[in-house]
Amino acid sequence: MSVDRTGQLPLWSDARQEEWTVRVSRRARRLSVRVHFTGRVEIVVPPRTSARSVERFIGRHRDWIDRRRVEARRYARPPEPFPPREIELAASGERWRVHVAGGDRVPRVHVAGQSLLAISGDVANAPAVRRGMRAWLVAHARTVLGAQLERLAAELGLGYERLSVRRQRTRWGSCSVRGTVSLNCCLLFQRPEVVRYLLIHELAHTVHMNHSGRFWRRVERHAPDWRQLDRELLDGWRRVPSWVFDDSVPSV
Ligand SMILES: [Zn+2]
Repeated sequence: MSVDRTGQLPLWSDARQEEWTVRVSRRARRLSVRVHFTGRVEIVVPPRTSARSVERFIGRHRDWIDRRRVEARRYARPPEPFPPREIELAASGERWRVHVAGGDRVPRVHVAGQSLLAISGDVANAPAVRRGMRAWLVAHARTVLGAQLERLAAELGLGYERLSVRRQRTRWGSCSVRGTVSLNCCLLFQRPEVVRYLLIHELAHTVHMNHSGRFWRRVERHAPDWRQLDRELLDGWRRVPSWVFDDSVPSV
């Protein structure tokens, strides 16, 4: 690898090129890394730095860079109108329309038809609208994810006792010693392959209550590309629309 005329090194076969750049700076005395607010990563290196040194440097700081990228992306989300006109659920391939029916009562959110969510009442009462939409999201996640979990458990020959679905900020799922699988309703915004992996992960915990080698081998049997899918979940938060957690989104 060598520096091209723009002063940039081609980098990393597995990374998206436009998000990773290496800039050679004559003033730089040592290697440094910057993570921009868009999630773009820039490595600044002194002249005549070898590609191997760059790779070693990135390797050493990879965890830090990944964490910063996740943060950057979470906050880089542009403000979205509220209530949203549409809710897209990647996990099930559903696209729900949101109809504002109006009125001056305390708002209520209900399913009004095939993939149609209606908000009746005073839509300016944003906290109540959000509460209604979030309650719908959790209930819908219970239906969708519950069916998927049941199917998968049968297919894999793994049992669980109970399903709990919640809206959580920090974890995608868990499994208790008593066999209760807890799932985050925000999984609805993730790709089906990713959701399938998470369900397999939690079901595998009904056999191995740890992250041992045996646990991962069990996961791998059913999801050979679990590493990539697990990584995708790391920044799955940026696929969650703002109304799910943000209490400050403006009402229209
Ligand atoms: Zn786990």
